[in-house]
Amino acid sequence: MPFTTSRSAVVAASTLSVLLLGTAGVHAEEPAHAGGATPDISVAEVMRHLDALQRISDAHNGNRAHGTAGYQASVDYVREKLDAAGYRTSLQEFEFGGKKSWNLIADWPRGGKSGKVLMVGAHLDSVDTSPGINDNGSSVGAILETALTVSARKASPSQHLRFAFWGTEEETYIGSTHYVNTLPPAELSRITAYLNFDMIGSPNAGYFVYDQSPEVARHFQGYFDAKGIPTEPATALNGRSDHEPFLAKGVPVGGIFTGSAEIKTPEQAAKWGGTAGEAMDKCYHQACDTPANIDKHTLDVNADAIAAMVWKLGVRK
Ligand SMILES: [Zn+2]
Repeated sequence: MPFTTSRSAVVAASTLSVLLLGTAGVHAEEPAHAGGATPDISVAEVMRHLDALQRISDAHNGNRAHGTAGYQASVDYVREKLDAAGYRTSLQEFEFGGKKSWNLIADWPRGGKSGKVLMVGAHLDSVDTSPGINDNGSSVGAILETALTVSARKASPSQHLRFAFWGTEEETYIGSTHYVNTLPPAELSRITAYLNFDMIGSPNAGYFVYDQSPEVARHFQGYFDAKGIPTEPATALNGRSDHEPFLAKGVPVGGIFTGSAEIKTPEQAAKWGGTAGEAMDKCYHQACDTPANIDKHTLDVNADAIAAMVWKLGVRK
């Protein structure tokens, strides 16, 4: 395996330097490296996170909504995985409707010497009528697995990587708005792009790319072009997810989306498969939005797209 080989070689070289130079100016830190080839995210691992979120919902009145113990248990689940992987995690508390909530922010401690920040986010809450597995466990699982892959590779990325799991999106992106509005302007200006994911495993899927920031969109577009998958602009999501507060502050945004209650047209069914005349997610905001509501092929393609963009924009560049 190239990754293991090159790392062993570098470690051997630095050991030699220590022997030659003694302790003067030589640190025992592992050397920086680019993070290896673009990873292939395991959809089975992503599904394990979705099954865990479903169990949390089952144990908490069938949802993981704002202000509930089910939401707190969702935060605990994701945070524990990130802490174990070496992330610096923090909870940003805010209040909505008289109830407390939290954004979970995870910073990767290595790399980022450029002073630039790539941010990747997904909302972690569900509505109170649904376990919220496509909306939005699908994206939570995919960005969590991408974050865990950064850790497994011991990547030292070019940009600082920050993953955000937002609270209270379902009440019109309250958590992400709070984050953006309380971030010092100097910090905000370091964010080169915010990548948002909200529903990426829809059972009657379309392939939609955010088109607000062409400099980010072209990278996603290139990914799907290379796979021979036609896309459309994600206009159904405009004004409806956590990228909005970033966009309002002038941060470039990007993302992908596979459809919610929109009805698939015959033209869309012809190019993407699936069923014309039916919703792209017929369980949108309903109790049937369980792991059984996920199209695993769609989730696989989109989880790989997310990792590819994180590697392209933040890890390697
Ligand atoms: Zn959503």
